[in-house]
Amino acid sequence: MRHALRAADSSALYPDVVVRRLADDVEISWTARQPSYAPRGFRLALSPGAATMSVADFAEPLWQALEWVQRTAMTLGLDRRDEEAVEEFGRRLSELRSANASDLEKWYLPTNLFSRVKQAREINQIAGESSLLPSVPAIAHLNAAVLMFGGVNPDIGKADVQALTKLLTSRSGVSEPSELAALVGTDVGAPLGAPFEQGYDLAEELLDTLSMPGSETHVDIRSLLERLGIVCIEQALKTSTIRGVAIAGEGYTPTILINKTSDYNSTEAGKRFTLAHELCHVLYDRVRARRIAHVSGPWTSPGVEKRANAFAAMFLMPRALLRRLAATGQWDRQGIEDAAATMQVGVSALVEHLFNTNFIDEFERDALRLRFGSYSSSRN
Ligand SMILES: [Zn+2]
Repeated sequence: MRHALRAADSSALYPDVVVRRLADDVEISWTARQPSYAPRGFRLALSPGAATMSVADFAEPLWQALEWVQRTAMTLGLDRRDEEAVEEFGRRLSELRSANASDLEKWYLPTNLFSRVKQAREINQIAGESSLLPSVPAIAHLNAAVLMFGGVNPDIGKADVQALTKLLTSRSGVSEPSELAALVGTDVGAPLGAPFEQGYDLAEELLDTLSMPGSETHVDIRSLLERLGIVCIEQALKTSTIRGVAIAGEGYTPTILINKTSDYNSTEAGKRFTLAHELCHVLYDRVRARRIAHVSGPWTSPGVEKRANAFAAMFLMPRALLRRLAATGQWDRQGIEDAAATMQVGVSALVEHLFNTNFIDEFERDALRLRFGSYSSSRN
């Protein structure tokens, strides 16, 4: 799932490069960390960064390199031990060469989960397996069901795998309404740096584009989703670790599922937050800018989740509304309760958002956190 170059040999002068697959992309990231046993005066000139690319752009040169190593190693006049190592390397390469789509999917998902997904996929007739690259054994595009379960708790039960796979099948249908298609951000990419700021920026740009909230006193997320043709479904999954699910793009009716079992969704304010969070995924987190089957919860990439949470907070509590409310009242207990009721958001979510947007300072936030201790169960 994640390969660090330095893990191969901690005494080598390698930069700290990490490679992993993110849905249908490959991400290469590196830190500024220096080798542990660098000779005096040796320094890698690196600032931390990351790049994403298509699987083909990464896997094809990688295989060319592996095959070059195998071809040339034997011509070097090796001793017996090295020859054996090269032979073993060649054996493992040809084993990999003959891997089929199912083998590769199995490596992508944990074993237990894979068999459950495979079974559910057959029952719910999700078309085909993941598609392979023509030249090298690598999955170019993950099958929709496999993609969906790439970000869930591996212990998720059979009933929930069935329910989510069924959801995927039932949502395949019409193409995207044009107003929604126009709002999809194809150039946003994976969150790098500060996901919080990115989430705020995306929310503020979208509010701007939609001329929201205008003179309204709250952001009507449900009406907006309806206008954009995004269907909202409420369902009680067995697990409480999934907050919501977003499905959209490439032949899917755009859909958001609210899991009624999640604590987050026990109030209307919590559900509204989940809807805004999933809207962020629908618009900005599509795999290779084309499709999304995303499950929100602690097993999803943390940057993507943080960005969606920041997006939801800013989208439902835009600065314009906060300024208007600040002008008419104080950020004391009563003021917070009134403002939360007006904007139809959770009290705790409002307190945290006021701090993150510099409307209150740390001292005020901590005092309010204590005051609203009894609200901590609503968590947003
Ligand atoms: Zn999410």
